[in-house]
Amino acid sequence: MNIILLGPPGAGKGTQARRLVDARNMVQLSTGDMLRAAQSSGTEIGKKVAGVMARGELVTDEIVIGLIEEQFSTVKADGFIFDGFPRTLAQADALGHLLARAGQKLDAVIEMKVDDEALVARVTGRSTCANCGEVYHDVTKPQPADGKCSNCGSTEFTHRPDDNEESFRTRLLAYYRDTSPLIGYYYAKGQHVAVDGMAEIDAVAAAIRDILDKS
Ligand code: AMP
Repeated sequence: MNIILLGPPGAGKGTQARRLVDARNMVQLSTGDMLRAAQSSGTEIGKKVAGVMARGELVTDEIVIGLIEEQFSTVKADGFIFDGFPRTLAQADALGHLLARAGQKLDAVIEMKVDDEALVARVTGRSTCANCGEVYHDVTKPQPADGKCSNCGSTEFTHRPDDNEESFRTRLLAYYRDTSPLIGYYYAKGQHVAVDGMAEIDAVAAAIRDILDKS
């Protein structure tokens, strides 16, 4: 089973993808995580994309398609959760070809709908466990009082440099300009389903579970 989680920055795609990884034998392919890893390890790609990502702009299709192709061909799984990819129509076409070449298909494209104003608040209060990637939020999911990640016990947390209001506005603009056309693209293919991303994390997870059970 292969699915796409589609939604603006802060919609909860990463959080829900992690839930699915734990619940089903699926692998999360997050181009954002791959690009951040490339930056941390100082690769050529990492150096090339640092400024673009900090500003909240989109990295080139060529780079992200290359990263997805590499992971798709090397990682073995019962299914993939595409998180933050595709973000442009060119990327959507490339993914379609990649799956077709492998004799696979997309089972669902799940759009997570969240109000713009809620997104700003979500993104600016966000922090992440440096070890396992568990996501926290100052208001809705504060870091545990003992300072240890509830998932892995690590005491190190990071704040994404692009999770500030200015970069967020650029990311939201990129979403509406370049990524939201994918809603119509997948709707026309009969693959689009929407969930209320404003609901509690568990309720969103339940809605996604229902969709996957019916797919
Ligand atoms: P994310 O973690 O998905 O919010 O992505 C963080 C940043 O990485 C984005 O703001 C872009 O700069 C870059 N990025 C991630 N995925 C893509 C993609 N599919 N296409 C272009 N840029 C991407």
